[in-house]
Amino acid sequence: MPTFEYAPAPESRAVVDIRPWYGLFIDGGFVESAEGDAFKSVNPASEEVLAEVAEAGAADVDAAVRAARSAYQTVWGRMPGRERAKYLFRIARIIAERSRELAVLESLDNGKPIRESRDVDIPQVAAHFFYYAGWADKLGYAGFGGDPRPVGVAGQVIPWNFPLLMLAWKIAPALACGNTVVLKPGETTPLSALRFAEICQQADLPAGVVNIVPGAGATGAAVVNHADVDKVAFTGSTEVGRQIAASVAGTRKRVTLELGGKAANIVFDDAPIDQAVEGIVNGIFFNQGHVCCAGSRLLVQESVYDEVLASLKRRMATLRVGDPLDKNTDIGAINSSAQLERIRTLSDIGAAEGAEPWSPPCELPERGYWFAPTIFTGVTQAHRIAREEIFGPVLSVLTFRTPAEAVEKANNTPYGLSAGIWTEKGSRILSVADKLRAGVVWANTFNKFDPTSPFGGYKESGYGREGGRHGLEAYLSGADHA
Ligand code: NAD
Repeated sequence: MPTFEYAPAPESRAVVDIRPWYGLFIDGGFVESAEGDAFKSVNPASEEVLAEVAEAGAADVDAAVRAARSAYQTVWGRMPGRERAKYLFRIARIIAERSRELAVLESLDNGKPIRESRDVDIPQVAAHFFYYAGWADKLGYAGFGGDPRPVGVAGQVIPWNFPLLMLAWKIAPALACGNTVVLKPGETTPLSALRFAEICQQADLPAGVVNIVPGAGATGAAVVNHADVDKVAFTGSTEVGRQIAASVAGTRKRVTLELGGKAANIVFDDAPIDQAVEGIVNGIFFNQGHVCCAGSRLLVQESVYDEVLASLKRRMATLRVGDPLDKNTDIGAINSSAQLERIRTLSDIGAAEGAEPWSPPCELPERGYWFAPTIFTGVTQAHRIAREEIFGPVLSVLTFRTPAEAVEKANNTPYGLSAGIWTEKGSRILSVADKLRAGVVWANTFNKFDPTSPFGGYKESGYGREGGRHGLEAYLSGADHA
């Protein structure tokens, strides 16, 4: 097979100006934390400290919630939808205008390849704000009653895997519906949320409508448990989601939870194999596998197993792992040393339990957090790597003989976020999709996102839907029954 040598094609860092220190964003301005606590945000590809960031404590969260309440009562909750829409359109336009800067910042702070932050994350962020801006003056036609009202103050907690995109999923529908927000970004990736705060200032968004309170789990818990928060929106692990569900039980707070996943990507023997292999690679190696809906369990029909495996290995040998800012890079850095440790631990357990790991030869950079793309064969349903979310570039390969067995294996998981089906037969797509207990089912594609499309889980993957018309429901009062 001919091989190509790629000259480095680095994106310039010069488009993004990172200050050495960032405050909390409360009531329209950047402020110090009351206790003076701070933490460092690190570039996972180099371990370089990018900036120091103020860490919000309970007093700061309280100030943020008070600012959000006041903005809700005096301005935002009373503003006609058509006026709110103007702000959202303005934010969307600024994001589009500053997309290169945002993409570079996201890749620096998160470790994801610039190709993905530039072509997926940031365009999707702008698209979410454009989409929900369009709803702001049409809420009476969304199917939730003729005059739906906002809920009030939303407390939102997001993870580190798609920092700005998860922020957009949370803030765009909340604001469109007339709510104000207090958002806590992931502790390893606060910088794009703080840049978003600057964009809110640039858009002249009224003070207090958006508040950003960086910090770790304790800050998240302070947001979730604050007595004056009306609605909690959480994206993160099932473990923390469970704690949050318990802590809001018995309160008047509404809650939506977007949690983990262990998706089955099912390849039938009539599938176009080359296309399926691209989908398998995209399904598990996109964003280093730090994707809640990653296709982390490959189910291959036995009759095409050898062909699929050979083709997958050939394709994996062409993946380029390395500098996230290089436009040739397919797989960037693992987001943190803690996540790298988790991936290593589960992979070691996979090997110890008898599954067989394989990675293409690839040279990993010396500094930073890296893990080679890996597949495990000989995996059974009982293996921990077939059951637990690894949240890294690690694929567990299982086989099946009949469609019924594929469905049974796919559903044999406590999760139910997403699934993929690869087959030439439309009737098989419909019949299998109907039986899969997963919120999103992709057919002959994988990891496709669109702001118009609802997203959310079954079972331990959470409850509530984000995106699309469905995503409005959580942010409108009296809409529970609709
Ligand atoms: P995590 O649950 O550890 O943390 C998520 C967020 O919650 C972080 O901001 C964290 O600081 C905060 N947090 C931690 N403890 C808290 C507490 N007790 N109360 C309130 N907030 C708390 O998860 P993570 O490791 O950052 O993210 C990875 C997880 O997120 C994976 O399980 C992944 O599947 C899931 N995820 C789900 C979706 C989805 O839409 N379903 C999307 C992205 C990621």
